[in-house]
Amino acid sequence: MATCDCCGKRFNAAKAEEDFEGAYGMFLSDSMLFDNKCLCYECATEAMESHDYYENCEKCGRRFHVCDDDEQFENECGDYGLVNTPRSYMSNLIICADCALQIASERYEEYQREHPEYFEDDDNGIDVYEAAMIWASSGKDEDNMFGYSREELEDAL
Ligand SMILES: [Zn+2]
Ligand SMILES: [Zn+2]
Repeated sequence: MATCDCCGKRFNAAKAEEDFEGAYGMFLSDSMLFDNKCLCYECATEAMESHDYYENCEKCGRRFHVCDDDEQFENECGDYGLVNTPRSYMSNLIICADCALQIASERYEEYQREHPEYFEDDDNGIDVYEAAMIWASSGKDEDNMFGYSREELEDAL
């Protein structure tokens, strides 16, 4: 018999192991999963359901707390144009928030390259004649070229 570190109940470790593996395909006795805690089947199930357990990132190898990383990804994925996207959506592998965000950022950059029209800066919305006027009046300052080349601006003057 084993004693649950969470609820204090004495339980049959072999039976709990079997039940847990049947339900989740993971080993209850895997000491990494619940941060070295020995949990009964009920407590382990509760931890799984509330995502209060640990996993190893299959990409960078970092051990992470599933719940914390879910939260981190949710908070930060908005920077890459994602809304309500679960961490697990980013890869078939089990990956930590850092790796998931890395993938999100790469995909976002790729998307920007493929669809530059969605990301055009309003500053570049002015036509070449207007840009040339501003450029000339700023003393042909390189910071005021609005994405046009020197030749284009000279021609437009
Ligand atoms: Zn328990
Ligand atoms: Zn990782």
